[in-house]
Parts: sequence; structure tokens; C-alpha cells
Amino acid sequence: MPAEKLHWTHLFHEVVTSGLCTGCAGCVVACPHDVLGYDDGDGHYKPFNIEEGTAPDQCSHGDRGCTLCTRACPRFRDWEGEADSLLFGRMRELDEVAGIAKDIVLARATDPQVLELGQDGGLVSAILLWALGRGIVDAALVSYLEGDGSSWKAVPGVARTREEVLASAGSRYTYSANLLAYNEALATGAEKLALVGMGCQTSMPPVMSARKGGKVPRKFALSIGLLCSKTFDDAIFPELLEAKYGLPREQIVKMNIKGVLQLWMRDGSYHEVPLKECHHWTREGCLTCPDFAAEHADISTGGIGAFNDWTLTLVRTDVGREVMGGMVADGVIEVRPGDDDPGAVALLRKLSRVSRKRWPEVAVAGPGRMPPPAPKPVA
Ligand SMILES: Cc1cc2nc3c(=O)[nH]c(=O)nc-3n(C[C@H](O)[C@H](O)[C@H](O)COP(=O)(O)OP(=O)(O)OC[C@H]3O[C@@H](n4cnc5c(N)ncnc54)[C@H](O)[C@@H]3O)c2cc1C
Ligand code: SF4
Ligand code: SF4
Repeated sequence: MPAEKLHWTHLFHEVVTSGLCTGCAGCVVACPHDVLGYDDGDGHYKPFNIEEGTAPDQCSHGDRGCTLCTRACPRFRDWEGEADSLLFGRMRELDEVAGIAKDIVLARATDPQVLELGQDGGLVSAILLWALGRGIVDAALVSYLEGDGSSWKAVPGVARTREEVLASAGSRYTYSANLLAYNEALATGAEKLALVGMGCQTSMPPVMSARKGGKVPRKFALSIGLLCSKTFDDAIFPELLEAKYGLPREQIVKMNIKGVLQLWMRDGSYHEVPLKECHHWTREGCLTCPDFAAEHADISTGGIGAFNDWTLTLVRTDVGREVMGGMVADGVIEVRPGDDDPGAVALLRKLSRVSRKRWPEVAVAGPGRMPPPAPKPVA
């Protein structure tokens, strides 16, 4: 970060109102003066100033030298280069379109209950259970469904027990700013946190750490990323799934995205909705997002590929390798080479390119850089 004191006014104009803000809530949890609130109503998912007597783009603490919100923001200025350099000691090569990774494998939980409840191979839940059991972390920031689940409203929360980890398993395709559970986790006495989230969220701890952001990033002992090309506004339930397809949200038991939006209903029926039709409900914060592969997590996980019950896994950091190695040694996961599914790795690269194309040219150049596409084979 330059010597200039960069604070909320800069963040407001360069990120929050410019179209770059993902709604990750990093700035909200980093703010030590409770100046920032978070609005997740009506498809907003944005931070806003709640300080009395100041304009929306002002902060009296920022004026006096506080810079923590800009230090936390994983979309402010050269965030990608700063996080790459911190985590990997170098910037990515042009060809590393899905970020820097040490290993790509397929993994799944050996515990049948974890495998059953997990979205793909149950790897994320298996990692949390293992890391909690070993004392590597003492709480995880995850996502739950609100109330009895019938509203399908995804909400951030804390998991510390097996029951809580299993209750959070599975994927919701609306936004849950899991970082918002940070203070709740600390209030339970937790000191070493795991963060589960899409790339927009898992870039926050390394970005803030690279910018010498103090104690907040030091609390994160492990981050688990979820591959992601978009999340939907909650309005997709009434306006598309119910209005056009007659699928009320309270009857949905599971969703997945595999080329189409897949829906399993309480009455046993199964439905597919073309993703093109869902596009209208893509959250604004996703429209400029260049990070498909959760590129700054210790371990990134996804469901693309030929094998439904396996999690496509990118092991990125030494911490990630230690965790995966320890879990294999303890027999809680099984692992096979990513090369077993070359189509998944090719799709990972393709979808990563699609996301990088979204980064606007008016912003810093890094996150949009990639090699030109390979020429089409001559027929
Ligand atoms: C919004 C979203 C979009 C995704 N898009 C893709 C994609 O395009 N391609 C792909 O290959 N994979 C995608 N994934 C990842 C995939 O769905 C699985 O999460 C991943 O493969 C891990 O599966 P698992 O069985 O190992 O995880 P599980 O053991 O089922 O654990 C899943 C974890 O994800 C957390 N979670 C669930 N929903 C949310 C949410 N909305 N916000 C934040 N955290 C959440 C839960 O708290 C849980 O800890 C997406 C996931 C999400 C949440
Ligand atoms: S991207 Fe995240 S940290 Fe940056 S302004 Fe938006 S909510 Fe705050
Ligand atoms: S596309 Fe996914 S990773 Fe990117 S901002 Fe949207 S939710 Fe976050």
C-alpha cells in the first residue's frame, strides 16, 4: 500500500460504488470503530456508512488516519498481486489462469454421513471436522440456511461441533457473507478460525495480511475456497423458480449447478433450469468478479467434472498440503489424481478464463491478464 492514507472515502468511490464490490463484508469486520454496516436486503449485499452526522462516503476515523477498511478489501487496487506475492512469494505466470496451485486432486470423505450430506465429496466438511478435532482451528465461519431452511435464505454462522459442521454442509447459490460471522466466532472464545467461502471472501485474509492489517488476518488459520462463477439474488426463488417453473422454495431439498441449475424437490421430483434463464438474477457484485477458482484459499474446492461424489481440489499453500496429507494419513479422506478427470481440469481453466474476462479495463490490469485463447484446430 502507498504511504497515502487510504480510507473509506477511497473505498466508497473506487470499489463500493464502482461495480467492483462483491459484498464480501471484509471491510465491515475489519472496521474497529463500527462505522460500517452491511445491507443484504433487496439484492444489495453492500457495506454502508452508519456513522451519525457523516455523508455516505465519509468517515471521521478515516479522516484521522484509520486505513483498515481499504487494507481489508480484496477488490481495492492491486489486491490480486498483493495476495499472490504474500501467499506464493511470486506473481502468477500468465498461464496460471486458475491461480497458483501445488496439487490438483479429486478427494472425498470416507465417513458415509459426511459424504452423504456434502455437496460433492464432502471434503469441506471433512476438513472442518478434522481441523476442529485436531485443534488446528477452534471455530469455522460457514453458511447455514436461516430458520428451518424453508426460506432458502443463506446466512453466515459459526461451526464448532460435528452437528454444526454437518448442518452447514451442502451448497446454496445465493450469497452468504461468511466473514460476517467473525465477531460471533471470537465471542465464543475462538482464536484460530477456518474460513469457508467463495474467492471473493477467501482473498480477504491474505490481502489484509499483505497490507499489514493487524490482528484480524492473524486469526485465520485455514481458508477453504469454493469455486464460483456467480451467486443469485434471493429474488430468483419467487420470480423465476416459483413464477415460471411452479417450484416453491419451501419444497426444494437440494440444489446444484452442473451446466444447468438442478433442483430436487420434497415430492421426489427433479428439475433443471437453464443457466441462461437464471442470469437475470445474478448478483451485481458477481458481474465483474475475475476469481472463479478461489485463488487465494489454502485449499479450493469445486464440483465440476465427471465424478459426482468427488470434490475437485486445488491445494495451494503449505498449510493446505499439511492438512490434506494429515487427513489422508488419518484415513478421513481418499484422494486420487486430478489427471483421472482431464475434462474437469480443462473446464476449470475455461471457466477461470470466463471470469477473468469480466474484470473491467478501467480497474488495475492484473486480474484481467491471461494468455490469448489457443487457436481452434483446423478441420
Ligand atoms: C455460491 C456457490 C457457487 C458455486 N459454484 C461452483 C461452480 O460454478 N463450479 C464448481 O465446480 N463448484 C462450485 N461451487 C462449489 C461446490 O458447490 C461445493 O461447495 C464444493 O465442491 C465443495 O463440496 P463439498 O462436498 O466438499 O463441500 P461440503 O462438505 O458440502 O461443504 C460446503 C461448504 O460450503 C459452505 N457454503 C454453502 N453455501 C454457501 C454460500 N452460499 N456461501 C458461502 N458458503 C457456503 C457451507 O457452509 C459448507 O461449509 C459453488 C459453491 C457455492 C456456495
Ligand atoms: S469488496 Fe468486500 S471489503 Fe471491498 S468494499 Fe466490498 S464488501 Fe467491503
Ligand atoms: S462470482 Fe462468486 S466469487 Fe465472485 S463475487 Fe460472485 S460470489 Fe464471489
